[in-house]
Amino acid sequence: MYKPIIGLEVHVELKTKQKMFCGCPTDNFGKEPNTLTCPTCLGLPGALPFTNQEAIKMCAKIGLALNCQLAEKSLFERKNYFYPDLPKGYQISQYRWPLCTNGFLMVADKTDEKRKIRINRVHQEEDTGKLLHPGDQTLIDYNRSGVPLVEVVTEPDFTDTEQVKNYAKLLAQIFRELEVSNAEMEKGDMRLEANVSVSPPGSEGLPNYRVELKNINSFTFMASAITYEIERQIKVLESGEKITQHTRGWDEVKKETFVQREKEEANDYRYFPEPDLPELRIKNLESRIKQEIPELPNMREERLVQDYGLPSSSSATLSASKELAILFEDSVLLGKSKGITPLEISNLLLNVSVKNRPKDSLATISTIEQSKSGIIDDNNQLEVLAGEVITENRRLVESYKSGKVTVIMALVGMVMRKTAGKADPLKTKTILEKLLQS
Ligand code: ADP
Ligand code: MG
Ligand code: ZN
Repeated sequence: MYKPIIGLEVHVELKTKQKMFCGCPTDNFGKEPNTLTCPTCLGLPGALPFTNQEAIKMCAKIGLALNCQLAEKSLFERKNYFYPDLPKGYQISQYRWPLCTNGFLMVADKTDEKRKIRINRVHQEEDTGKLLHPGDQTLIDYNRSGVPLVEVVTEPDFTDTEQVKNYAKLLAQIFRELEVSNAEMEKGDMRLEANVSVSPPGSEGLPNYRVELKNINSFTFMASAITYEIERQIKVLESGEKITQHTRGWDEVKKETFVQREKEEANDYRYFPEPDLPELRIKNLESRIKQEIPELPNMREERLVQDYGLPSSSSATLSASKELAILFEDSVLLGKSKGITPLEISNLLLNVSVKNRPKDSLATISTIEQSKSGIIDDNNQLEVLAGEVITENRRLVESYKSGKVTVIMALVGMVMRKTAGKADPLKTKTILEKLLQS
């Protein structure tokens, strides 16, 4: 069997007030093009950059949250290339002296087994402007030029698509809870690039090529692209051909990847140290920054298992949302004196849809108490069940609507059956009538 080998590069826009190397605001969503610019982020000759400390702290925070080492000394470098959205002709980035290196994150794979994904580096750079293509023109908006961007690069440790998806979602959640970014893919706050290769049966080490999947702006498309790419590469290698290093995009209509360009090598960029910015030495801030890191979803997941004896799958779902985890723990506290167990609470919270989720711990506990006391008379709960019965029994509903109102009792019976006889029949009837009228 061929073994898939996948590495991920994630770019995230920081939500600092100011840009990375000038004082322009970063909040450019929906703003008039080219109004949030200055000589520095327009790359005008003679304009000098200065370092945004808030951004550097956020970058370090991300690195430390991902178990990285903070560098004693870190440097910016110029990554030289020409493109109209990059007015200076180089991007200020980091290459040989990144701020954070050698971290890891535990991520569930497709068998739900947690595996270590090594983080190669977390470094600071700046975003480019945006090209717009109305009609046959090309316009450039430099509002985004110079917005702080952090890049998180993994080692090629992923072995399946599910794991890539879990990682990307977890990472987005971590960014949000660290309050360093909104990490909204649709708004372009977070961008993914995957590097994919496949290793033939019996071979050791990494393949000598990688295909980079770029410009794919949703988790789902990225997953489809990786799955497609693994299959494609296996076919090519099976037919005895070689694969060269290159970049591909995703065609959502044809559901296939396509060649974008041959890959440039790092030395094509002629990286060299940025002479206009001082080196960063922030090791002395490490413990202070660490203190600002709140409990993150992965830590929470472990703690809920330890503190409440929850099954790990339940804990994972509860922990993925901070609000849900808080509701769970508040309810546990309240339920304690009433003899309601954490497991009962977690079962309730995980079995209702988001829409019907109790508003607070009081509602959670009273729902559980009611269902234990035997009679279900909670309007929300009955409405959900009645709604189900209505969609499941189209024929009865038709005949009710055509005037045969006595069939309502048959529908009440269905709700009773769903609740093993615990639904309050009168209330159920009223609710069904109301729903059938609307
Ligand atoms: P570049 O900027 O040129 O893409 P990076 O070092 O930033 O280079 O990223 C390289 C990415 O490719 C990393 O995520 C790494 O894990 C991944 N990678 C390296 N070798 C392979 C391979 N053989 N197969 C799949 N991914 C790989
Ligand atoms: Mg890359
Ligand atoms: Zn500016």
